Amino acid sequence: MHPFANTGKAMRERMVVGNWKLHGSLISNKTLLDEIVTGMAGVKGMHCAVCVPFPYIFQVQFALQGGEIVWGAQNVSQYEKGAYSGEVSASMLRDLGCSIVIVGHSERRALYGEDDAMVAEKFVAAQKGGLIPILCVGETLEEREKGITANVVERQLQAVVDKAGMEGFGRCVIAYEPVWAIGTGKTATPQQAQEVHAYIRALLSEQNKGLSENIMILYGGSVKASNAAELFAMPDIDGGLIGGASLDANEFVSICKAAAKVA
Ligand code: PEP
Repeated sequence: MHPFANTGKAMRERMVVGNWKLHGSLISNKTLLDEIVTGMAGVKGMHCAVCVPFPYIFQVQFALQGGEIVWGAQNVSQYEKGAYSGEVSASMLRDLGCSIVIVGHSERRALYGEDDAMVAEKFVAAQKGGLIPILCVGETLEEREKGITANVVERQLQAVVDKAGMEGFGRCVIAYEPVWAIGTGKTATPQQAQEVHAYIRALLSEQNKGLSENIMILYGGSVKASNAAELFAMPDIDGGLIGGASLDANEFVSICKAAAKVA
């Protein structure tokens, strides 16, 4: 049974999630999955997950079922069913054994017009359908330079609190992903990331201290094998959401091991 199977909650442990974005093919996925499974054998003390393009979920389910690595999608509809051509619901993802889904990735916010309210609806739909949402928040470079990082992150979180209530945060993972660090090779320093992670935890703590201590907050933005350990060593960084480096099995497995080492 995989770690989040029907438990309905995420404990504050360590987690590394690969976001394959718009990459892959049946053939390249097979090699990547085989290498990840082999590389992760015997790695304990963290949860490893991959979020893959919709058409490949079935392939990933076949490759990973019965093991410790969990899988999910990169987006989900805010609707359960209906005349929404091209959309995929949370229950469809559950049908294919998904236990997690990314919501509010900055690429969806910036390129597909997903605003805070829509992200909150998707968060709720994911949970209703039995998935653990991985809620992405983070500021653009312009927002950081204006000194409004905290305001942006607070606004993004508050939209979800308004819709899901604080209870909603009992069954989710948060990913802090500064937009300026995603796919740019420019990683936030461990101190920059820790500062925002601690802020997020403090914000949640104002409403529910126990919950804030248990929630996993992942860092995302150009994490690589070479910088993972120093990021994961920070007290409020519980793992990572990994884009580019998740397509290379050696890199991805090394990042997972870095999360496990400090668990
Ligand atoms: C991401 O896609 O969420 C991400 C963090 O990408 P990258 O690791 O490539 O910066």
